[in-house]
Formats: sequence, structure tokens, C-alpha cells
Amino acid sequence: MSGRPFTFWRVLPLPGEPASSYFSRLVMDECAYLPEHYASEIGINAIFQSDEVLERIFRLPISKQDKERLRQWTPVELNGRIHFAGQVFAGNQFRWTRRLECRKCVAETPYHRVWWQLECFRTCPVHRCALEPLAYERNTTGRWWPRFDRVLQERAVRVALGDAADTFESHIVRRLLDPSCQASPRELSDFIECAQFAGRLLGNERNPSVPPFSAKDWEVGYHALKDGLFLFKDQFRSWLRVNAPQLHAYQIRDLIGWAAEYLTDQKGPFDPEIDDLPNPMHAEVSAIIRAECRRALGR
Ligand SMILES: [Zn+2]
Repeated sequence: MSGRPFTFWRVLPLPGEPASSYFSRLVMDECAYLPEHYASEIGINAIFQSDEVLERIFRLPISKQDKERLRQWTPVELNGRIHFAGQVFAGNQFRWTRRLECRKCVAETPYHRVWWQLECFRTCPVHRCALEPLAYERNTTGRWWPRFDRVLQERAVRVALGDAADTFESHIVRRLLDPSCQASPRELSDFIECAQFAGRLLGNERNPSVPPFSAKDWEVGYHALKDGLFLFKDQFRSWLRVNAPQLHAYQIRDLIGWAAEYLTDQKGPFDPEIDDLPNPMHAEVSAIIRAECRRALGR
């Protein structure tokens, strides 16, 4: 089938909107079908791949600019990593089946924002409320088509963070919206990983085993790292003062517990077949922690 998949293309892709959401809105504008039924009618697999959805949509005569926008915000999986907005995320940082949304955002401007599928994304930076399960929950598993209660006719929607609080999530959205502030495609992914590690260390007392997961890890880590590693050093020093070493402390593990196992070394051997890609920021954070620990141990 090579024809156009829709008769109308009055709705246009919006900032942060992946192909699945745009497809659902095209279906709503076209007929009363559910997006999953429409997709199967035109031969799109139930476990759809982003590429095939994009390929169908690109048969519509929408502008090159709109196609580029849609491609930019549509997550694509390559070798277990997720690519969108010029960034590459690790497989455990993005979940295809995550069914969370900010209902207030959807009520105002009904479309799905791809950043809601990042595992670390918990609180809407605009409305400051926790993301909630989809308003339209269905019994299907796996990948899903967003569904909305009305067709949005606006074409020039802006993501208004306005004077949203300076939170981890607002930082993520700002960085995704402004690719010029990224030095490399892995930068945001590396930052998220570091924020979780630093937040779990600084947000807990010294602990021999990894403390249980807490959503505050990312927030604590974000505020420790956002202004540069020099300030992180100060915060880690304060943490060391509060979590004073015991008298018999003689190695790094005695000072930081579980976190000692998670320090990385930029110079370590790296095998791309089995190792995760090196995270330069994590290596720098590790170097600061090691240096401060040696100082505290008097070596
Ligand atoms: Zn919201």
C-alpha cells in the first residue's frame, strides 16, 4: 500500500510529540476508530515500530519542517538504546510501556509528551503535580497509542515552562527543547545517571548496601550537580562531615559504603561488547569523591 493513510492532515505535529501521539490525533480527526484498530487496518503491527509509523505518516503532504519535528520527537530504538531529540538514552532510562501523563497538560493541550516516558520523569514541571496513570487505561499490554478527548486544532503550540520551579524535570525539558546546549548526544543520559548516583549518596546516610530507590535521589542529585562539579565537591565535603568517618576507617569503602562499588575509572579497560559506554561525568564525579576520601583519610 503506497497511498495516503489519511484523508485529512489538518492537525500538525507538536513540540515533544512522538509519532504514536500524532497518529492517534490524525485518526481522531479522520473517523471514530480507535487508533489501534485504524493502525491494524492500514497494516501497522500491534507492536509497532516508530519507523513504520513515521513512514506511513510521511506519505502525507505535510511540510518538511513538520516532518523533521515529528522525527525529532519520535523515540527510535537502535541496539537497545533510545534516540530522540538528538539525544541517546540507555534502555533502562526510557520505557515504551510507561503509561503516565500529566492530566493537566493533556487537559490544556491534548497530546502526548515523549519525556513522560523517561523513567526519571516523575513530576510535571509546569503544574508541579505527580504524573498519573493515563486517563484512558486499557487492558492491552506493551506499546500503546495515546488517546484524547478532543482534536486539537492549534498549530503553534509552545511548551510553556514559564517560571516553572527549577526542578530536575524542568531541566530535562529545557535541555531537550534546546539541542544547542548539548555537547554530545549522550550528555543528558550521562547527567541523569550521575544525578541518580550522586543523589542516592548525598540524600542518605552512609550505608553498607545500596539504599532503596527513592524518587528524591534524582532531585537531590540534580541540585548537587547542576551548577558544576566544583560545587558538588563542596556538597560532598559537607556530607563527609555529617557522616564522619569511624576511628578505624582506612579505605574509601569505610567512608562512603555502597557507593565505593559504583565509582568508575575513566582509564579503566573498556570493551564495547560487554561494558556500558563510559560516562565521562561519572568518571569526574568519581575522581572528586576519591580525592576527597583520600584527603579525609589523611593520604
Ligand atoms: Zn502538566
